[in-house]
Parts: sequence; structure tokens; C-alpha cells
Amino acid sequence: MKYTQETAASGEILRLLLQKIVLHPAAFTPANYAVWYEHLAGINPALSAAMNPLLESRAALDNEIIERLYSQYVSECSSDMQQKLRGGIRQLLGKLAECTSDASREARRFGSSLLSHGKALQGNLDSDELLALINNLAGDTGKMHGSMRTLESQLEASKLEVEKLNKEIESARVEAVTDPLTGVLNRRGFELKAQPLFSDPEPAQKGFCLLMLDIDHFKKVNDAYGHLFGDKVICAVANTLKSKMKGQDAIARIGGEEFAVLLPETKLEGAFVVAEHIRQAVENGKIRHQNSNDPIGGISVSIGIAPYTPGGNLPELMDRADKALFISKHNGRNKTSIFGSR
Ligand code: GH3
Ligand code: MG
Ligand code: MG
Repeated sequence: MKYTQETAASGEILRLLLQKIVLHPAAFTPANYAVWYEHLAGINPALSAAMNPLLESRAALDNEIIERLYSQYVSECSSDMQQKLRGGIRQLLGKLAECTSDASREARRFGSSLLSHGKALQGNLDSDELLALINNLAGDTGKMHGSMRTLESQLEASKLEVEKLNKEIESARVEAVTDPLTGVLNRRGFELKAQPLFSDPEPAQKGFCLLMLDIDHFKKVNDAYGHLFGDKVICAVANTLKSKMKGQDAIARIGGEEFAVLLPETKLEGAFVVAEHIRQAVENGKIRHQNSNDPIGGISVSIGIAPYTPGGNLPELMDRADKALFISKHNGRNKTSIFGSR
């Protein structure tokens, strides 16, 4: 559950929310409420990063904007996609029901034709009558065969559609846990990936570490080069993280310019080495400006590390890594700190 605010805190958010939501033309739907709630509660930094420029430019948040914000940043599986999938499955079931009922009607007709031919055979038939019966039988069998072939090809087409729907469901599932800008996990994906480390005894015994990273003075980057370039910097940092990680490690963008990295089977010393590699790679990386192609220097990240302690849980470990990150910021940024250090 992502909403953990108590009655008093959520009441305060509600009060603020009511003041703001009425200033915009969008209908007061649950989706609109959720967008404002998550923004004002400060629990969805990616959403806030998208909303802040809109609010600063005094944009009127209408139904279309709210729907986009909701499906991109709040909904766990875009409502468009869910609707599309549901529609696809309904259509498919309808088609299947239609073609099986056609086939069973044909099969019943074939069954009664066999019965009547069988009865006719009990009588005395001359050779002409026998020939006519065989011809009828051949005709009916041909019709049944044709109808079976139609059913077969309809079933084959349905099978292909089921496979297509399966792929769409799979990509919706991936989309629901992926950050669209960078392709790394989003917060929900990160929580899903991290949870087993806390609940299974083996990873807990082997030990693991969490890194929290935050891009330094990112606001200045946005201010100097614009939001689009800021996004490019976020992607470059995500790519650096991907290039430094092993298969098992989970990388997530958990806020606007904040990342979390889980390092399973990694002791504190090893995690420190990984963190320093990342920090130096970002510091030495050259991102080029789109228009002038000039390399932009001075991008750095601050990192906090917290090792798993027996009995701990994910929010606690994230909080510890965050505290270590704060120490890195406090000590001048572009630093790596371990929880508990100064
Ligand atoms: P510090 O070194 O203390 O971390 O300073 P900072 O400027 O990085 O930190 P602050 O939290 O004050 O500012 C973060 C900025 O990141 C503010 C916000 O506009 C920007 N931001 C958040 N999400 C995004 C995003 O998705 N794209 C871009 N371009 N900017 C974003
Ligand atoms: Mg930050
Ligand atoms: Mg920052």
C-alpha cells in the first residue's frame, strides 16, 4: 500500500488539495484526486517533477492532462491498456463461441444424417438406391469436413490472437514496473524485486547492500540547460548504473533524479567499491549538449550505502541509505558515505 499517511496528515493534504483542485477545470474524479493527493503528499517525485513545470507556468489542468498524468505516473497499469486488453479478450471469446456453435450445429446435422442413412440401410435397397445413399453420405461427410476445416482455421486464428494478447499483457506487466524515461525499474518494480531479499532466509544470510544515489545540484542543470537536457542527464546516469551492474542487481529510479540500487550477495566493502566506480564513472562521463555538441562537465552524484541488518525491512534500509546519502551531500557532494559514518 503506497498511502501510509495517518488521518491527521491525510486531512491536512485534503484541506490543501481542495484549495488547489478547484482552480483547475478537470472533473473532480478519483483519478484527479489521486494525482493531486500524491503530488501534495510528496510521495511521487516523478509525478511532481511533471506537475511542477505545469503549475509554475499556470497551465490549466484539464481532463486530458489529468488523465495523462494519472496513467503515466499514478496508475500501476495504464487504464487505456487495461481497457484494450479487456476488449480484446471479450471479442476473442465471442468469436470462439460463435465458431464452436456453428460447428456443433453442423455436427448435429451430420449425426442425424448418419442415423437416417443407417436406418435406410436396414431396408432392402437396390443398387441405384445404394449408390444414391453413398452419394448423400459422401456429400454430408464433405460438408462436415468443410465445417471442421473452418473451425480448425478459426481456432488457429484465435490461437494467434491469444498469443498476441499474451504478449500485450506481458508488455503491460513490464510497463507497470518500468520507468518510462530510463528503462530501469520504477519504485513499484523495485519493491517487488527487493521484497524476497527480506523474506527469504538465504539472501538475508548471505548479506546484501542498498545504494541510494542522487544527482548533485540537478536543479541548476535544469535551470542552465532546460528540462529536456535534464532528462538526458538522468538517462545518462541510468546508463552508467546499468553498465556497472551485474545481472542480479536491481536498479530503480525512485524519484526525479534519485536512484536506488540493490546489490545482492554483496558485503559492505564490495558495495563501497561498486559505489565508488559508479560515482567516478559519472564524474568522468561526458554528456554532450544537443545543439552545440559541447561536452557538459560537472555532473556528479552523491551516494549513500546501507548494509542489510538481520530482521530489517525495506523502508528501514532505504531510510538508512538515505541518511548516508545526506552525509555525502553535507560533506560537499560527489561523495560516497556508509550509514553510521559522519
Ligand atoms: P542536491 O545536490 O541537494 O540534490 O540538489 P538538487 O538541485 O539536485 O536537488 P533538488 O531536490 O532541490 O532538485 C531536484 C530537481 O530535479 C528539481 C526538479 O525540478 C528536478 N527534477 C525532478 N524530476 C525530474 C525529471 O524527471 N526531469 C528533469 N529534467 N528534472 C527533474
Ligand atoms: Mg533529490
Ligand atoms: Mg539532487
